[in-house]
Amino acid sequence: MQVSQKPTPLSPGRGVGGEAKKDIRKLKLEDLKAFFTEHGEKVFRAQQVYEWLWKKSVKDFDLMTNISLETRQLLKEHFTINHIKVDTMQRSTDGTIKNAVKLHDGLIVESVLIPTDDRITACVSSQVGCSLDCKFCATARLKRMRNLNPDEIYDQVVAIKQQADLFFGRPLTNIVFMGMGEPLLNYTNVISAIDKITSEEGLNISSKRITLSTVGIAKMIIKMADDSVKFNLAVSLHDAINETRSSIMPINDSNPLEELAEALKYWYKKTKRKVTYEYVVWDGINDSVAHVNALVKFCKIIPSKVNLIEYNPIDDGMFKQASEKAIQLYQRKLDENGIIARVRRSRGKDIDAACGQLANKT
Ligand code: SAH
Repeated sequence: MQVSQKPTPLSPGRGVGGEAKKDIRKLKLEDLKAFFTEHGEKVFRAQQVYEWLWKKSVKDFDLMTNISLETRQLLKEHFTINHIKVDTMQRSTDGTIKNAVKLHDGLIVESVLIPTDDRITACVSSQVGCSLDCKFCATARLKRMRNLNPDEIYDQVVAIKQQADLFFGRPLTNIVFMGMGEPLLNYTNVISAIDKITSEEGLNISSKRITLSTVGIAKMIIKMADDSVKFNLAVSLHDAINETRSSIMPINDSNPLEELAEALKYWYKKTKRKVTYEYVVWDGINDSVAHVNALVKFCKIIPSKVNLIEYNPIDDGMFKQASEKAIQLYQRKLDENGIIARVRRSRGKDIDAACGQLANKT
């Protein structure tokens, strides 16, 4: 029997000793510094590698041209760079781009680039699927598979930043967490991604240009206020009467409007920043005066504004966009009470890229 002299090749995901390699972007800069010291390398190399990983977003150690071959080899033996891949890209007639993004384990999430005259907005996902079961949302039907890691959120922004440059010759200006998932149920990773997006070592995008949209989990809103976050908050309200809100958003059962209101008061007290309420008006569900009055009252709790969002059908007969008259009634009443309300027309409807339509159809 011949014995091969060649060492057993390392399998792609396995490192020294056959152990699973770690995703290098799970390491903080300090961890990377410690790794370099432990392996007799100069500490400043950690900073250089960190820059390649985040600011320059390289997906391969061999692209780190100012790092020696031996050091790159050392990194390859211990780590992988897990990265996303834009699997398919669809373009709407209105310019909106929807990406189906493949994660390192093969799961898919969607992200959207929304161009307007003065902005390019990235709408990113925070979870694969969603656990919240809002009755009008297509993502709810996917169920939650897992949370996204900070780098997977960050990479969605990078991919859209590159598309903004390539297809529009303009910079990415805004980021909204309005894709798949509930960002406040993946709080630590979302905050860590935002830290990278806003930091000089990352994309250096101002937190004023970032909006986190949530169903309104009260205790997490309190946590955000305590953490003195600097980004904007949007709450998907859709109704200000408990009974109706619970019937379309089951989270309202355990997290009723009274608790949400208390959390929002705390948010405003701590941050002094207005909240935006997202609100769809549906035929026969919330298009009567009682619902309008309830919203006006809720809006007076703290300084706020309202985005009246157009309903994007998700093949369910239960929900139908309300009449123009009903929407005008909302606008008039809010206006009379000094509350700013804007009607938001959908973008990317033809490619199922609009709010609530992200469901991995492709
Ligand atoms: N979980 C977060 C973010 C994802 S949903 C949240 O709920 O805010 C982003 C926005 O799209 C939310 O305001 C949501 O209520 C809205 N939305 C969901 N389905 C929709 C649909 N079919 N038509 C219009 N808006 C929808």
